[in-house]
Amino acid sequence: MPSAISTDVLIVGAGVAGLWLNARLRRQGFSTVLVESASLGGGQSVKSQGIIHGGAKYALHGALTGASEAIADMPRRWREALAGTGELDLSGVRLLSEAHYLWSPGTLAGNLTSFFASKAVRGRVDQVKGEQLPPALQDKRFKGKVYRLAELVVDVPSLIERLADLGGDSLLAGQQIEPLLENGQLLGLRVDGREVRAQRIVLSAGAGNAALLDTLGLSQPAMQRRPLHMVLVKGPSLKPLYAHCLGGGPKPRITVTTHPAADGQWVWYVGGDIAEAEGVAREPAQQIAAAQKELGQLLPWIDLSSARWATLRVDRAEPAQSGLTRPDNAFLAEQERLLVGWPTKLALAPDFADRVLSALERDGVRPLHGDALPSLPKPPLGQPAWEQLLP
Ligand SMILES: Cc1cc2nc3c(=O)[nH]c(=O)nc-3n(C[C@H](O)[C@H](O)[C@H](O)COP(=O)(O)OP(=O)(O)OC[C@H]3O[C@@H](n4cnc5c(N)ncnc54)[C@H](O)[C@@H]3O)c2cc1C
Repeated sequence: MPSAISTDVLIVGAGVAGLWLNARLRRQGFSTVLVESASLGGGQSVKSQGIIHGGAKYALHGALTGASEAIADMPRRWREALAGTGELDLSGVRLLSEAHYLWSPGTLAGNLTSFFASKAVRGRVDQVKGEQLPPALQDKRFKGKVYRLAELVVDVPSLIERLADLGGDSLLAGQQIEPLLENGQLLGLRVDGREVRAQRIVLSAGAGNAALLDTLGLSQPAMQRRPLHMVLVKGPSLKPLYAHCLGGGPKPRITVTTHPAADGQWVWYVGGDIAEAEGVAREPAQQIAAAQKELGQLLPWIDLSSARWATLRVDRAEPAQSGLTRPDNAFLAEQERLLVGWPTKLALAPDFADRVLSALERDGVRPLHGDALPSLPKPPLGQPAWEQLLP
């Protein structure tokens, strides 16, 4: 029988939300245990594009109403953390790009009028030309307008590794979770048979939250999944590109980010509208053909003849929401000792942690358990999709 543990906060799910929260709590003197059933960051987090949105994407379809939204402040908070001067010391995490770009092919600019009028982007978007263009767009055949957004792109695998370091000895590999009840009250969880008692229990298990709630006999908060069918391209001729390419609609036609593979080549990771509903309905071979056509039309000067292609299906997990719910805040629901939520964006992990910390403060939850933890089985780090699909 493994030894029982008492801790201040027990967190289940070590994606970016659980890892960020864990590091913030430890920094404030709380003892924590963070349980992961598979790999650290290996759910949605290492499959994300790593863009630290400031809200520009939402301003395109008018869903972001003002600069007061939490997301508008995220690039600053991440920048400070990456510089080692913020709420967490993330120095050493690889920054892939200082900026994300918005690129409008040809003369299409009509749908940008309200975008530029939006408070969310005012003063934070500059047009770039010539040598300031992203390397992949520096070609004399390129026609169109490019704007630099004050949004970063981080290398998520190195972020997860750093957050795992900040988690110290608190990480626990565990598969089977059962409620630990006394007189009908949830006092903690039993993890692979080990009792873990805590002042508060946080579920940040992404798509796994629904099953965990079920285990605890709860049906709320309801969760929704939104599927994506992403495309990966790897080849020696690729140059870095971090950009939303605008189409006629409210969503970017494609969103391209570029990631370093272990063998020194670049991988383009392609999402945006092409990865949404129609793309989800396509078989992988059709989805690759659709991406080849898009990239061939938009970037005909890039030689993709020796590129290798793959697709990845992955669901975004979020609180169930009506079309009216704003996409620019993390979500947290509370029920006595239990807190359950989703950051809804990688970029919003700091906002998710804020929400948990303010609930603790409101309830007067203070660090109590300072004892050293026994040696715990550690979960492995999640591997990037391109290393698995295009090794
Ligand atoms: C293709 C794609 C691209 C994206 N791009 C961006 C982007 O550029 N910028 C951005 O801000 N956001 C982006 N997102 C959204 C972002 O990835 C997610 O909002 C964020 O990663 C969610 O983090 P999380 O910690 O809640 O979930 P996850 O990363 O999924 O972590 C949940 C963890 O919980 C674990 N778990 C599940 N069940 C259990 C259990 N029973 N016990 C223990 N552990 C459990 C899982 O194994 C997993 O490790 C993207 C999402 C996708 C799918």
